[in-house]
Formats: sequence, C-alpha cells, structure tokens
Amino acid sequence: MSGFDCDLFVVGAGSGGVRAARMAAQRGARVVVAEAAALGGTCVNVGCIPKKLYSYAAHYSHDLRDAAGFGWDVATPTFDWERLKKNRAAEIGRLNGVYDQLLRGAGATLVRGWATLLDAHTVQVATGEETRRWRAANILVATGGTPSVPHFAGREHVLTSDQMFDLAPLPRRLVVVGGGYIACEFASIFQGLGVQVTQLYRGEQVLRGFDDEVRAFVAQEMAKTGIDLRLHSTVAAVERAADGLALTLDNGDALQADAVLYATGRVPNVAGLGLDAAGVSLTPHGAIAVDERFRSSVPSIRAVGDVCSRLQLTPVALAEAMVVVDDLFGAGTRRMEYELVPTAVFTHPNIGTVGLTEQQARERFGELRIFRSEFRPLKHTLSGSNERTLMKLVVDAASDRVVGLHMVGADAGEIVQGFAVALRAGATKALFDSTIGIHPTAAEEFVTMREPVTR
Ligand SMILES: Cc1cc2nc3c(=O)[nH]c(=O)nc-3n(C[C@H](O)[C@H](O)[C@H](O)COP(=O)(O)OP(=O)(O)OC[C@H]3O[C@@H](n4cnc5c(N)ncnc54)[C@H](O)[C@@H]3O)c2cc1C
Repeated sequence: MSGFDCDLFVVGAGSGGVRAARMAAQRGARVVVAEAAALGGTCVNVGCIPKKLYSYAAHYSHDLRDAAGFGWDVATPTFDWERLKKNRAAEIGRLNGVYDQLLRGAGATLVRGWATLLDAHTVQVATGEETRRWRAANILVATGGTPSVPHFAGREHVLTSDQMFDLAPLPRRLVVVGGGYIACEFASIFQGLGVQVTQLYRGEQVLRGFDDEVRAFVAQEMAKTGIDLRLHSTVAAVERAADGLALTLDNGDALQADAVLYATGRVPNVAGLGLDAAGVSLTPHGAIAVDERFRSSVPSIRAVGDVCSRLQLTPVALAEAMVVVDDLFGAGTRRMEYELVPTAVFTHPNIGTVGLTEQQARERFGELRIFRSEFRPLKHTLSGSNERTLMKLVVDAASDRVVGLHMVGADAGEIVQGFAVALRAGATKALFDSTIGIHPTAAEEFVTMREPVTR
C-alpha cells in the first residue's frame, strides 16, 4: 500500500482498538494507534476490571457474615476504602503498562494524543506541543462510548460511573439513578461496601431486555441485601444542602444523599472526531453506521465497539476487531454473530444469561417448554443467609433445542460461560438430560431439571 504512511490507523486504544492494532501488526501490517487517555480504554480503566475488583471487595461483607454459621468467629470487620482504591489504582497502572508492551511488542506505533479525521485517508493527532498528520490506507475508529446524563435542575451535582472508582470520601448515603446493568452493579457494590444505597428507576422493573423472571428475582434479591429499590421513580431536582445533596422526586418525595450516581445510559464517542469532514454517516442514535464488515459509509473508514453501539461488551468489541483484521489482512471470511452472546451482571447475587428470554422465544417459536428451579443454595443452609438462586431453561418445543439459559446466583457468570458453548452447538434438552451433573453444585441443576413448569 505505497503512498500511505501506514496500512491501518487505529483511533482509540481501548478493547477493540488494541486488539485490532496488535493483530494487524502481527500480520505484518504497518499500524499506528492513537490514544488520548489511558491505555486499555473503558474496560481497563473505568469499566469491567475495576468494577469486578470492587465487586469482589463488596462480596467480602456477605462472606464475612456467612462465615459465622461455619464456625468462624471473625472480629468485627472494618473496611478501608482508601486501601482498596490504592490497590485498584496500582493494578490498573500495571495493566496500562501491559497494554503498552503488547502494542509495542507487536510492532505497532503508539501515539499519545487526540486524533481527528481530516478526510477518508488522513488523521491528525494533537500531542500537546505538536500536531502530526498520517496518511493511512485504512482507518479504524474504536473510540468507545461515554456516560450520558439527562438535563435537569442540579445536573452538575451528580456523578457518572467514571467517577465512582475514586470517590473521596466513601459516601455514607448513595442514590443510584438508572435500571441498567451498570446501575444495578454499582448499587450492589456500594451496598456491599457498607454504603446505604437507594436505587431509583423510572420504569416498572430493572434490567430491561433480560428475562422478566430474572429481572423480578434479582430485584427481590437486591432488596433483600438492603438496597432501597424504588421503581417508577424519577428525579426532578438535585440541590446542594447543608448535609450533602437534597433530591426531589417527581412524585414530591424528598431524599438526602452524599453522592448521586447517574447510570442512565451511554452515548457513542463521535464528538470532535472529524467524522463530518470525512463523510462518515451516523445512525439515528448517533453511532457510526457500519455494514457486516464494519465498513462505514466511507469504504476506507471502519468502526468497531461501543462507537457502533451494537452490543456494548468488551468481548464483542474484540471479536468485531478480529473481523476487521481478517477482512483487511487475512482471508476475509470471518463474520460477527450477535446471537447467543453470553453475558453476566455482577450484582449480588450475579446474573448469568445466554440466548433468548422467555418472551423473545415465545415470539420466535411459539410453543415452549420452560424449566425452572428456585432454591436455597447449600452454602446458605449453614450460613443463615436468606439468599436464593434461580435457574431457568427455555426450550423450543418443536426442536427440543435449549434456546435460552438464565441464572441468578453465586458465580452465575462462571457457570453460564460453559453452557454458552452447548447452546451454540445446538444442544437439545435431551442432551442436557443425558449429561451427568457435578454433585453437589448449583450448576448441576441445569442438567437435572426434568418437569417443565409451563409450556
Ligand atoms: C462501568 C462499566 C462497566 C462495564 N462492565 C463490563 C463488563 O463487566 N463486561 C463487559 O464485557 N463489558 C463491560 N463494560 C463495557 C466495556 O467496557 C465496553 O463495551 C468496551 O470497553 C468497549 O470497547 P471499545 O474498544 O469500543 O471502547 P473503549 O474501550 O471505551 O476505548 C475507546 C478508547 O478511545 C479513546 N479515544 C476516544 N476518542 C479518541 C480520539 N479522538 N483520539 C484518541 N483516542 C480517543 C478513549 O480514550 C478510549 O481509551 C462496562 C462498561 C462500563 C462503563
């Protein structure tokens, strides 16, 4: 590709960008990658990784309580928020370094600064003192997304998920606004860390898009841990008060808090990128419109990950990046499948899910067999905790195929990952039935449910 400074210019060194840059460079392509902030993007710095670390921290409060029934007398535990923040920051710093080495080791050139597209083949990066331009045969936009907060009186007082990891001090009372997975996870995490949490959601149940039974069940379990979950609730105003923040709700209710988290959605990072100048079209939701090979309306410009806003998950951004690299520098046969993408929600207890919800399956297949098991996990027979577990299989009656598998319970994400392979392989309920369980586990319930609860 002579006449160009590089074969691929990647804008954004987050999940999708780093994967594409590394894989393309390993295939011998000349790759330049620009990053304006910390390496690793949302997932490493303010998403999956720090959130999961904090989720582990939160679980200790439950585990310490559970220990007594097993004979352990633990002296009154105390929690040091500053130590957790410091250890998290050190680990994230280490990961930033790993990403740097991965990129350089693969032979990609890393440029630190804000990138702007000038036309279909030109990228300009402002690195502080100087501005440099690259002519690229191909450009990949992997700029991710950012939290969005609606307009209302007192908006300036609220926080987004980006700020939750370094709060100073740990709030005593936290209001979480939103009903998506990020809102629910932060509600569970801060409740576990000893914060008094109120979660407000304007809809009729949290976690829209998940199976209805799972939604109701996890909402009930979260409430049992002490989260004050208020549905049909909207914030009208937030004001600074003598003792923290004063919230007024649409129904006239008043609430006091030390911090308010708005987790009400994310928008694609397209501002200030020069997409207009380059002629790149957006979807009505402001994401970059791409085809199945992630080409935008300008053939030399592609986009992957949250900036395309399909399924906002790290493994999805990675897989999309692999499609692009294969298309540009490989056989060009790889395609992305968005069905049967497993996912977890790290609430307490966790959700793990793959495939269709019961509602989606009814629309697609009509006649179903639903298998459900709800029980007190073995551990809690001694711990005294009243936490319960839900497991559910959605089976297409005509083909006997398991088309949806859902769990609310400890380690649901770990359990569902393996079952996702079975569902992708087209496993039938008969195959589940002929699989020997591992005893005693919660996971064995998925292969021992015999009688459908509904058809
Ligand atoms: C709180 C939270 C928790 C999450 N938890 C999970 C989880 O448990 N599991 C999961 O799978 N997913 C999770 N996600 C989603 C996951 O983080 C994203 O789907 C993933 O990071 C998207 O990757 P990306 O490559 O599209 O963008 P990002 O990883 O966001 O990377 C984009 C990068 O581009 C850079 N950038 C933007 N504009 C420019 C520019 N003009 N010039 C240079 N650089 C630029 C940004 O600084 C950023 O580093 C979570 C997200 C959040 C917010």
